[in-house]
Amino acid sequence: MSAPLYERVALIGLGLIASSMFWAMKRSGLAGHVTGYDLSAEHRETAHKIGLCDTVCDDVLDAVKDADLVILAVPVGAIGDVFEQIASSLKPGATVSDVGSVKQSVIDQVTPNLPSHVHFIPTHPMAGTEHSGPGAGFATLFDNRWCLIVPIEGSDETAVSRVETLWQKIGANTERMDALHHDQVCAVVSHIPHLIAYTMVGVADDLSRISDQEVIKFSAAGFRDFTRIAASDPTMWRDVFLTNREATLEILGRFTEELFALQRAIRVDDGDHLHAYFTRTREIRRGILEAGQDTSAPDFGRIKVDQ
Ligand code: NAP
Repeated sequence: MSAPLYERVALIGLGLIASSMFWAMKRSGLAGHVTGYDLSAEHRETAHKIGLCDTVCDDVLDAVKDADLVILAVPVGAIGDVFEQIASSLKPGATVSDVGSVKQSVIDQVTPNLPSHVHFIPTHPMAGTEHSGPGAGFATLFDNRWCLIVPIEGSDETAVSRVETLWQKIGANTERMDALHHDQVCAVVSHIPHLIAYTMVGVADDLSRISDQEVIKFSAAGFRDFTRIAASDPTMWRDVFLTNREATLEILGRFTEELFALQRAIRVDDGDHLHAYFTRTREIRRGILEAGQDTSAPDFGRIKVDQ
């Protein structure tokens, strides 16, 4: 066990990410005392029952007032409002960080109200599941996953590297990135894939020629993985698209062009085009496996293979 990196930590928004951070920090003894607050009374009640946080507060200001580190783990569209609410109650020298999936919008929301005696260090853990709420978290969520650290202009280096150390000690690899680049990268690797999954599941739902029963029964043929992604939290994902509008629209434009090219290849019987395209994309999967970011077991390890 390490000595606590932060004596008092406040987690605001007790969902998947905050609860996973809590269990991971406790696993490594990184936080002395952790307070928690969620807007939902039901979620506060659940947190209390499952021992999520040392103290669950009914008022956000009570949760943050003595904190050395405050983590904002609410949907991206709510981060500015929450920050405005807590700004004048933060103790001098405190660090505020967020875990939002979009970074430039969060920085634009927070910096106008940032007191000079408070450090703001945005981050984005690239780990998640389709589950949400206080019961969804687990200590190993961030193990061997990436957490992007997005320091703002003029950030205090000691405060940045302390947040970086926190993420490393709860299992993640870290990389620093600027906000606009972050938003473009995440549009490609996360945001548009989610939009495509939502669309594919919506299309299947709309098709009257295929019955619901067939969709469910035969879903192992690729569709099942779309349904898992498309089960992700609607509020979180609404906010991601509304706050990362430019990057997601740009990647969506490129995606549509490629889709039309593939559509044409099918129509004109251009098998070479299809084969070359699929060969290139298969290489990307190999790269992900070589980087240790997924399992090479067939069907993501869901099929038991006899050794
Ligand atoms: P989550 O499980 O839905 O948790 C968010 C919690 O915040 C919910 O309990 C929500 O309550 C509460 N909340 C909403 N508005 C609030 C407010 N104004 N004040 C206090 N609490 C509030 O979501 P999550 O997956 O942990 O995501 C949290 C953040 O992490 C988001 O910014 C998301 O973009 C980011 N993130 C998510 C993932 C992922 O895969 N899930 C990965 C990386 C980063 P209600 O449910 O009642 O609204």
